[in-house]
This record gives sequence, structure tokens and C-alpha cells, in this order.
Amino acid sequence: MKNSVITFPVPANEPVKAYLAGSPERVELEKELKRQSKLVVDIPIIIGGEEIRTGDVGKVTCPHDHKHVLATYHKVGKKEVEMAVKAAMKAWKEWSRTPWTTRAAVVMKMAELLATKYRPILNAATMLGQSKNIYQAEIDSACETIDFFRYNVHYASKIYSMQPKDGVGHLNHMEYRPLEGFILAVTPFNFTSIASNLCMTPVLMGNVALWKPSTTALLSNYYLMQLYKEAGLPDGVINFLPGSGALIGEVATQSKYFSGIHFTGSTETFNSLWRQAGQNLGKYISYPRLVGETGGKDFIFVHPSADAKAVATAAFCGAFEFQGQKCSAASRMYIPKSLWGDVLKDIKRMAKEVKMGDVADAKNFINAVIDQASFDKCKSYIDYAKKAKDAKVVMGGKCDKTKGWFVEPTVIETTNPRFKSMVEEIFGPILTVYPYDDNKVDEAVKLCDETSPYGLTGAVFGRDRLAVEKLADKLSYAAGNFYINDKPTGAVVGMQPFGGARASGTNDKAGGEFNLIRWIIPRVIKETLVSPTDYRYTYLK
Ligand code: NAD
Repeated sequence: MKNSVITFPVPANEPVKAYLAGSPERVELEKELKRQSKLVVDIPIIIGGEEIRTGDVGKVTCPHDHKHVLATYHKVGKKEVEMAVKAAMKAWKEWSRTPWTTRAAVVMKMAELLATKYRPILNAATMLGQSKNIYQAEIDSACETIDFFRYNVHYASKIYSMQPKDGVGHLNHMEYRPLEGFILAVTPFNFTSIASNLCMTPVLMGNVALWKPSTTALLSNYYLMQLYKEAGLPDGVINFLPGSGALIGEVATQSKYFSGIHFTGSTETFNSLWRQAGQNLGKYISYPRLVGETGGKDFIFVHPSADAKAVATAAFCGAFEFQGQKCSAASRMYIPKSLWGDVLKDIKRMAKEVKMGDVADAKNFINAVIDQASFDKCKSYIDYAKKAKDAKVVMGGKCDKTKGWFVEPTVIETTNPRFKSMVEEIFGPILTVYPYDDNKVDEAVKLCDETSPYGLTGAVFGRDRLAVEKLADKLSYAAGNFYINDKPTGAVVGMQPFGGARASGTNDKAGGEFNLIRWIIPRVIKETLVSPTDYRYTYLK
């Protein structure tokens, strides 16, 4: 690829396969689900390409069948984290100087491998380990992960081609250097695509990473490591560190080579990592880049002119798909009293139709929440609402942990706009609704803007377009991803780059070019063609 200008045009988004019964993709996926269901994978630590087994092990189980052990994993100690820093910095020497088109070729190969051979593997692992149904796995571990690979290569080519203009007698150009150190990628359980992207975006830009995967997503995340290796990613560029986030964070942020965090998870965890970075600031070669997408309390705001059926569908899908465990999931709704009766009736009808259970049964729309901690948290909010004077559970509310961590899609109705579950993130299938007086839209929208500390996603419904415009303006800072007449979930790479501000993160927009810019430090080079030899200004001559 030397002596050539290579461009990577805007790719097409990976098509979502239908998985109709008997289709080739469905048959292949079912076979893979059976294969993985019979295994207990031994997940090692991977440092510099070497598999390490400390013997300090934990278990990975199916959320919808918690006695079913899918894997055991080895936990890192301080020693392994320090080894990983060394391995990453060794790999940095070559990877940071590898031509970007070669790095791009590796990433494009990842996309191709995932679109074919690895598609059923990653989808089955995400279904079993993170309790996603076929569709939710397909849009995450296949399509979105592939889109991140392909689009980021396109964005990188766009960024690298941005060059300053030349001046009289001199040339200018911008070199986009990777950061001088390693990135700590700390990833959440809820999206295999996010886990991949948090490592691979910095890596595509020439960086190396220590990867702290979420313990409850280890199975799919381990298969991602295998995919990276098969695509030709050199050893040590990504070092895979299962274990305690607190320990890994503490050791990594003490290294002078710590040059950034790429994080997605709760606000609390990101704040603690930020504080650690702040405390160690004097140790670092450069100011670290702190990029984090964090919690949310995503809303649907309904104007009296809205179509009740559209609202009900958006509320149902937005709040309950993947058990409400999307960072963008609708978890509070403001609705005119005149519409609430019809909307609730329709949500109840949908809830009655859907089934809840094991991912292997394709009839199940709802599966389990991720673990016992999440189950207990959901249950505590439901129990609180059941006892509250200013709220009632109007749909669902049953929790059953006999076989898996199952929480029914639940709707809480409240007369208190600042009711606990209107304010706090739960991260489960619970929607709290505040019906407001139809003639109090302005008061209600103010509440929507000011009630929660977050600013991730939000949706406004209404057929009166001018009224919607006013609401959008009033909610200008309430969401980084804002929807009109659509559910607040389902952002697509290249179309709706994702992220929010306030307590929801640094809003560096995964799935767009802004994120990539955080992982480079530009150097501007001016080259004078004929150097001056006279110090005098013209008028002094
Ligand atoms: P989490 O904060 O519990 O965990 C995220 C990661 O941080 C995991 O790998 C975990 O092991 C690690 N971790 C935990 N404690 C740590 C510590 N003290 N130091 C270092 N690392 C630590 O979040 P989660 O339960 O995996 O994910 C759910 C959260 O993620 C929700 O708050 C959700 O809103 C958020 N989320 C946000 C977005 C977004 O784009 N804004 C996307 C997905 C998820």
C-alpha cells in the first residue's frame, strides 16, 4: 500500500438477518447455541498474546438459567496488570508506527470475519452469556460491531486526509500520532459491540490497550479476542484482563504510560476512575484522555397532540426490549392524562402477548436481567413502589429467580414527578409514568428537563410539529440523542452517533468521527523550502 492514496468510502450498514425458522442463518445459529451450551469454556487472561491462568477463578453463568455454567475465568492480580502494561508498551513500539492502511486492513478483516464465520459464534455467546434474544444479539454482536469496524476505518481516512494549507515558500502537514502510552478500555455487560468498540477505536488509530471486560459479558468478549487474533492483530496490542475492575483501574492509573480511559458503564464507576486519574496526574507523560459514556434516565415526553398507538409502541419497545438494559432505554414517561388510559391499555395488550424465558426459545421476546444484583435492584424499586402512597404498580411487577433472573415488564404510575423511580437509573424493565394535566405542558416539560442528573436519550411525541419544535428547544440539554416520534433506543452507527452529556458522560459520540479524534495527538510540521538568511524586515533593508 506504499506510494498510494487509499480512501475508504462511506460503507453500507451491515444488513440485519431475518432468522426465519429454517433459514440457513437460523439453522447455523441453533447449532452453535447447542454447541456452546454443552461447553464450559476455560477463559484465560491474555497478555502479549500469552494465555495466563492464575487459578484464581470465577464462573460465568446464563442469566436465564443461573445454574448453567458457561465458562470459568481466571482473575488478574496486581502482577498481571503490571505485566500487561509492559506487554502493551512493547507492542506500542511497532503498532504505533504501522502504516494506518495496514491497521485498517486488519480491522476490515475483523468485519469480514464477523459477518461470516464468527457471526453465529458471537451471536450465540451474546445470547447465552448476556441473555439476548436472536434479534437483540444480531443487531448488537453482529451488525453494530461490524458497523463500528467499517465506519471507523472510513472516519479514520477522513481525519487523516484533513490537512492544513501550504503557505508561500513552505509546506504544512499534520501528522496524527497515537497517544504516547496505553489506553485502559473498561467495558460494560450490555453490548458486545461497545466492548469491541472501546478497544478497537483507539487501536485503529495506532494505540494499544489494556482491556477490562465486564465479568458478565466474558464469554462473548473472549470470542472477540479470538476474532482479533485471527484477523491479524499483533500480540500485545490488546491485553485481555478479566478480574476486579477496582484493582485493574487502580494499578493501570498509576503507570506513567497511562494515556487514556475509554469507558462505558455507570456514572459512579467512571467518576471513581476519573478521580484516580486526577490523583496520579503528576505521574503521566501527557494529560490522559478521559472518555466515558455513563448512566441515563431516558425519557419519553408526550404532547397532547400525539398518536396514542405510536406512543404505546415506543414505550413498550423502548422500555422493555433487552429487559430495559440499554443505556438508552426509556425509563420515565410524561404523558397528558387524556392519553394515558389508551396508551396503558395498549402497553398491557403487548405485554400480554409477549413471552418471557430462555433465549433458546425464539418465541421469547423478554429474557432475564443480567445477574442477581440487577434482579435485586429491580425488585427493590418495585417493592418500594408497591408500598408508596404516591405511586402504584399498574402492570407487571412479578420477579422470579427460581431458574433465571426474571423480572416482568413493569409499569409504575406516579402522582409525584420526583418519585424515586422517576429520578434514579434502575437499568431494568421498569417504566415509571407521570400523567400530567393536559393544560400544563410547560410545567411538565420543565420537570422532564430538571428531574434527573442525566442527559443521554429522550423522545418527544406529537403531531403538532410547531409544539414539538418548542419542546425540542426546551429539552435542548436533556439528551445527547433526541428522537421525534420514535423510541429513544436503537441508534445506528453512521446515522445517529451516540452519547450524552450532564451525568451521562463526555459525549464523544461513538459511531461518529468525533470519538476517533480523542485517540490521537496531532503534530503539525512546517517545512520551509528555502530558508531565510537575512533577519531584517523588508522596511529595514
Ligand atoms: P458498571 O459501571 O457496573 O461496569 C462497567 C465496567 O466497569 C465493568 O467492566 C466493571 O467490571 C468495571 N468496574 C466496576 N467497578 C469498577 C471500578 N471501581 N474501577 C474500574 N472498573 C470498574 O456498569 P455495567 O453494569 O456494566 O453497565 C450498566 C451501566 O452502563 C448503566 O449505568 C448504563 O447506563 C451504562 N451504559 C451507558 C452507555 C452509554 O453509551 N452512555 C452504554 C451502555 C451502558
